[in-house]
Amino acid sequence: MKDLIIIGAGPAGLTAGLYAARARLNIILLEKFSPGGQILNTDWVENYPGFPEGISGFELVDRMKRQAEKFNLLIRAQEATGLEVSKGKIIVLTEKENLETKALILASGATPQKLLIEGENLLTGKGVSYCATCDGPFFRDQEVAVIGGGDTAVEEALFLTRFASRVYLIHRRDKLRATKVLQERAFANNKIVPIWDTVPKRIAGKNSVEGLDIKNVKTNESTFLPVQGVFVFIGNNANNDLAEGLLDLDRNGFVITDNNMETSCPGIFAAGDIRSKLLRQVSTSVGEGAAAAFSAEKYLESLK
Ligand code: NAP
Repeated sequence: MKDLIIIGAGPAGLTAGLYAARARLNIILLEKFSPGGQILNTDWVENYPGFPEGISGFELVDRMKRQAEKFNLLIRAQEATGLEVSKGKIIVLTEKENLETKALILASGATPQKLLIEGENLLTGKGVSYCATCDGPFFRDQEVAVIGGGDTAVEEALFLTRFASRVYLIHRRDKLRATKVLQERAFANNKIVPIWDTVPKRIAGKNSVEGLDIKNVKTNESTFLPVQGVFVFIGNNANNDLAEGLLDLDRNGFVITDNNMETSCPGIFAAGDIRSKLLRQVSTSVGEGAAAAFSAEKYLESLK
């Protein structure tokens, strides 16, 4: 039986792994994709302390992974498909085997929210995207729409101006939610055209995006925007499949923990974007990963 299993190798899981490995716990970290999490979708991170020039999302997470592996953290490419708690042990179900552990840290993160409008599913990968870093270069000298008004939407709109000839920033209100410094940059960039009080209604096209039907929510006026790309950044859903029915969740589906990252189930801790919280950042995730590992260590000591 393991001391600790960590699920998810984003900044929270990798930091928990680093701390737990240094505490010499018998641990394994499971990740269904490659390590990184959502930060891999971010071109440039400039608010993670210690990197005054900024650092690419890929490099930051690669450094975290290498640092944890230096202390012998074992990262396995394996998907956890279920969680069971029975007689003081936690069982992690995977396709190959069932793994038993005394404690668990859930750091499975979040997934971009979809618009749920006509054309979105059909044209995903054919002009509809949730990752500017991945798909931006396909839109050189073309016009694209970015949906959303948060940090992600504005940051990615700015990134897309490197390629696109024009970036419509479509927001459902008349004020952005994004942090001020990003707003200032967006307003100073003449490739970014904000469209306020507007929501997308339908993405047009058969084999590729040909345009976007949008509607002004104040005037009810509908317009067709002939864009070739639609980038959707309207928030995230918790990757909570493993937690549902087992852990207390908030009304949006994020895992509720106390200040020590302990969930409603003794021995199970949560860290990073899956947690119910105000601020989702690399810097908050790494702090929570460290706290979760420390709490798990204390929990294991209490079992002795
Ligand atoms: P977010 O902060 O939840 O913002 C989502 C945006 O999408 C909001 O502007 C929201 O509008 C809009 N929206 C939501 N549902 C919509 C719908 N159905 N149709 C149209 N618009 C919709 O999400 P996020 O920008 O992905 O950020 C997630 C977290 O990561 C935040 O904590 C953020 O600060 C953090 N983050 C930080 C950085 C950074 O620090 N550099 C970068 C990226 C993300 P309303 O404003 O009207 O609600």
